[in-house]
Formats: sequence, structure tokens, C-alpha cells
Amino acid sequence: MDDLAGRTAAEDVATDPCTGPAEPADPIDLVGMDRAVLAADLASLGLPAFRARQLWHWVYCRGVTDFSAMTTIAKPLRAALARRYRIGRPEVVRAERSNDGTTKWLLGVADAHRIEAVHIPEDDRGTLCISSQVGCTLTCRFCHTGTQRWVRNLTAGEIVGQLLHARDALGEWPTPPDGRLITNLVLMGMGEPLYNYDNVAAALHLIMDNEGLAMSRRRITLSTAGVVPMMARCGAELGVNLAVSLHAVTDELRDVLVPLNRKYPIEALLAACRSYPGASNARRITFEYVMLDGINDSPADARALVRLVRGIPAKINLIPFNPWPGAPYQCSPPARVDAFADIVNAAGYASPVRAPRGRDILAACGQLKSDSERRPRLAAAG
Ligand code: SAH
Repeated sequence: MDDLAGRTAAEDVATDPCTGPAEPADPIDLVGMDRAVLAADLASLGLPAFRARQLWHWVYCRGVTDFSAMTTIAKPLRAALARRYRIGRPEVVRAERSNDGTTKWLLGVADAHRIEAVHIPEDDRGTLCISSQVGCTLTCRFCHTGTQRWVRNLTAGEIVGQLLHARDALGEWPTPPDGRLITNLVLMGMGEPLYNYDNVAAALHLIMDNEGLAMSRRRITLSTAGVVPMMARCGAELGVNLAVSLHAVTDELRDVLVPLNRKYPIEALLAACRSYPGASNARRITFEYVMLDGINDSPADARALVRLVRGIPAKINLIPFNPWPGAPYQCSPPARVDAFADIVNAAGYASPVRAPRGRDILAACGQLKSDSERRPRLAAAG
């Protein structure tokens, strides 16, 4: 029996007002709602606190989207709850599976906008990459999303909804005790998470909630292009791992590749990294460095990179540039990537070269770009 208060569904009939909650014009989405807000809303309807915990359990531990499946709640109350609330999911516009097992979903959110989420299975883990905005304001030169116009921030519900959808699609309800397909979460999809801090924080609090999805902050990584004023807050309030998109060792080049650098140059960015709360040798900051042929990939660049990050508990993630149609750059040849990695490794930094995944379906790092502008009316598929 799942009733957190140990009651049976039959007993519910006696304890709750079966006429149930008042009905708002549009049902309120439970996904994304703060737990205290839900408890207060239920209390205003005369429902006891344990009802919030019950609903929470069905939504975030069982993945239920239909109130009629909530068997620990008496039927009349289920019906009343269904009139007041809904349990939302993004619309699946398209699902594409790469021949390496990577899955990319094009998801529809409110106002007919499109976002993307990607699942990358590996031997010892599975990573879900999610988006934080529709489009992006940053216009990084090498990034496909940067060519798309910025539309809006995602809500907390739309951010969490990507994880709920992925768990639906991968059949991970209730949460399997081991062998999970989603063990890690990265905010490396479309958008700049620190430019949507409030909604990202609300979503991550839901994702880390111990009575719900219960994902550890150690398995969550937020990637930023370097929104310096938000970094300390992110570390102190969320405590998630930080990845920083560095990509260049001089302000001159970084100004071009990551125009945000004109506002927050390298020195300020590295100072924020040095004081990032929670960074330690056990929890290193990841510096992402995209390898662009003839642009930032010389041995001198590699030596400058290790000098720059000196003193910061760091990992350096070399990302082969993932090309997209019309991209102004090419990926560095493998020998240049190896030579670069050798210099970084010799300086004592773990520097895995991130293997491109899902290239055949344009799902690789930095290739996400919802194609709603090009193909506005796609039939639903999977
Ligand atoms: N705005 C955030 C998160 C989204 S981008 C940020 O900038 O970190 C996630 C990562 O993908 C960043 O490191 C970004 O620089 C990288 N990236 C973008 N386009 C890429 C491409 N075409 N090839 C390889 N990496 C890319």
C-alpha cells in the first residue's frame, strides 16, 4: 500500500471532502510546482498535508500521468483532483535514434515551441542532456543553437518535463534500484542555464528532491558559457557540478567564439571558478574546449590552457567540433587533437576527448537546434 499515511483508499472516503477541490478554468500542472506551494494549495482546499506527499509520490516516483491510476486515493477524490490539476508532459514531436544508441527527442512545449533533449547510453551510465531555453541569446560562433533566434526561457515544469518524458520513453518507472538508463543529467542542451537561473534552480530542486526523483547533485552538471555574476549563487544554492565553456585562451579569440566574453572576460571567469563553492579535487570543474581546425588547437594554445587553469581543481574536456550545415569551422584533425590532449595530460589534467555521439542524427554536443522554423508541421512520431 502506497498511502504515505498508511490509510487505505476506502478510508479516504471518510476523511476527505469528496465534493473535492474547486475547479480552476485551466487545470494547474503539478509538474514544476514547488512542493510547499502544492501543500498550501491542498490545505486551502481542506486537504491534509499527507495528500501532497501522496501526489508527489505518484508524480515523481511512479511517473503516473493519470489520476485514475492513483490507487491509494479514493475514487471521488481522484476525480476531484483531476478536475483541478493535470500532470503535464511535453508533446513528442519526433524521436530519432542514432546507430550508437543515442536518442534525440524533439519536444513541443507551450506556445508551439520546440526544444530538444538527448539520451546518451554508455556502459557504466546513461546521461540525459536537457535544454534550459527555447533558442539562445549567446550566439556562440560554432554553436548550432546560436544560429536560432532566442524565444523564451523554459519554465521549471518544462525543464523537469524533459526528464519525466525521457523516463517514460525509457520505461524507468518506478525508479529501478540499479542498472538505470538515466544516471546523470547535464544542462548542456539548448540555452544558457544561468540566464534562466530561477526556473533552472526550481527545476533542479524538484529533480534533487529526496522524496521524488532524488537525483544526487553529484550526478548533475550545469554547463555555462560564463555568466560570472550567477556562478557563486549556483554553487552555493544548488551545489551541482559546474562545466565552463572556455574554448579559447585569449580574450581576443574568445570574444569571437563566445561573445559573452566581452562582458565577462577570461580573467573574471577564472576568478569565479577559483571561488566556486564546493569545487575540490574530488569535485572538479570541467573546462570544455571545442577543437576548431586551425583556430584554437595549436600546441601553444594547449600550453596556455594549462597555465590558465592552474590552481583550479579542473578537468579539461576536449570536444571535437561537431559540424552542422553551414558551420563556419571544421573539426581539428585527430592528430592535432591527440597532440593537444598529450600536452594537457602531461600537465596533470585528466583530459578525456569526448567521443562524439549521435552525430548521424545531429544530436551531438552543440548540434541541437529545434527545426520548428524549417519544418513547422511535423506529424507526431513516437
Ligand atoms: N550555454 C551553455 C550550455 C549549452 S552548450 C554553455 O555554453 O555551456 C553545451 C556545450 O556544447 C558547450 O560547451 C558548447 O560550447 C558546446 N558546443 C556548442 N556547439 C558545439 C559544436 N558544434 N561542437 C562541439 N561542441 C559544441
